[in-house]
Amino acid sequence: MSDLQAISSAYQTLLGMIGEVEPRIAQATRQELTDQRGSLKLIASENYASLPVLATMGTWLSDKYAEGTVGHRFYAGCQNVDTVETVAAEHARELFGAEYAYVQPHSGIDANLTAYWAILANRVETPALSEFGVRGVADLSEQDWETLRHRFGDQRLLGMSLDAGGHLTHGFRPNVSGKMFHQRSYGTDPETQLLDYDALAAQAREFKPLIIVAGYSAYPRRVNFAKMREIADSVGAVLMVDMAHFAGLVAGKVFTGEEDPVPYAHVVTTTTHKSLRGPRGGMVLATEEFAPSVDRGCPLVLGGPLSHVMAAKAVALAEARTEAFRTYAQNVADNAKALAEGLLTRGVNLVTGGTDNHIVLMDVGSFGITGRQAEAALLESGIVTNRNSVPNDPNGAWYTSGVRLGTPALTSRGFTTSDMDAVADLIAGVLKHTVPTTTAKGEPSKAKYDLSADARQTSLDGAAALVGAHPLYPGFEI
Ligand SMILES: *Cc1c(COP(=O)(O)O)cnc(C)c1O
Repeated sequence: MSDLQAISSAYQTLLGMIGEVEPRIAQATRQELTDQRGSLKLIASENYASLPVLATMGTWLSDKYAEGTVGHRFYAGCQNVDTVETVAAEHARELFGAEYAYVQPHSGIDANLTAYWAILANRVETPALSEFGVRGVADLSEQDWETLRHRFGDQRLLGMSLDAGGHLTHGFRPNVSGKMFHQRSYGTDPETQLLDYDALAAQAREFKPLIIVAGYSAYPRRVNFAKMREIADSVGAVLMVDMAHFAGLVAGKVFTGEEDPVPYAHVVTTTTHKSLRGPRGGMVLATEEFAPSVDRGCPLVLGGPLSHVMAAKAVALAEARTEAFRTYAQNVADNAKALAEGLLTRGVNLVTGGTDNHIVLMDVGSFGITGRQAEAALLESGIVTNRNSVPNDPNGAWYTSGVRLGTPALTSRGFTTSDMDAVADLIAGVLKHTVPTTTAKGEPSKAKYDLSADARQTSLDGAAALVGAHPLYPGFEI
């Protein structure tokens, strides 16, 4: 990196300028860096973007309205945004080998919404929203949705169940995808906890979905997308793959051949801020067949594109094309394996018995605690994670029995496999010394717990030593 000292002092100046307008925001921004630097971040969906990616977001590209597509904007003066969007889409197409890339979605949810409407528009005669006398999908009533679903031909969506690792946007009621479609979900094998392709194929034959969604947020294994496409073809369904979590492993060529979704899916959606290490945002990759419908994402479900974020996507994708990024992606997977082995050796149960991607899902039930207690005990011990359901979770979706771990963020700081073994030691130490308190009824609490002060301090010291050895943005001081 060029002259870090100069970059540091530029940021100091910028934060000083911001502080003159609203000191609390300058302070919170500084504090966030301190906090991120000081803890072991094992949240599987988070990462650290590079300084060039972060800096690209803080510019006047934010000031431009550019609804429409490159060369076909609803506003004048979009020549520079056209350049930005063209470069980002070009990088995305080349990096992932996709026929078409749409880089406007503001987030993963927006990318999925764009994809769902595009698939409907492509395969089904869809009524115009204006017929309902509303301005946007958010204004539709329950009755309108019922009518809409019917007008779509009562289309069906088959996605992975939440407790097997699927995502809310794969057809679940709190998300609009659960209102647009009749949804059913596929789970994992009760014994192995692995995807059961034969069971999925049988389910697809019976349910006859318009769309099969593959992809996950908490499944610690690779998926065979060739098999997924075969299943989709066997029932005439569209295969949509949501690679939000593992896009970095695809970009870094850790997932190749049948584990690469792009050659097999009709439509691929993703976030750009998880393992891909880009800015917070989303993206849709599609075959030529679906490209014209995907292009209508704005204004169908998206507002004006975030030009500054599209610019940062272009920078992040340029980084992801490098040999260094391939090494990074391989290290993410190697580190997850080392973390899993370290935990197994220390008696921690893992869903599916291990990992071959960037996710490790602990089942903490054997320690007599809930996911919520484990998450809280780890947090006060310097380890940031999130609780997560395990398949058929006895503690439900709020307390849970699982804790999800991921290696993208620590790998960005340069953690190695031996560091991951040390992290596993800290985690196991905390879990072993966390006991539920007893409720008034004499039952173990699902939320309150006691953690021994010694175990907590050992973990805090260990975490401090590890993050100290691998500084975030080394040399960057604000
Ligand atoms: C994170 C995630 C999303 C949503 O991304 P946001 O940017 O938070 O909207 C969608 N799908 C999957 C599989 C995810 O893991």
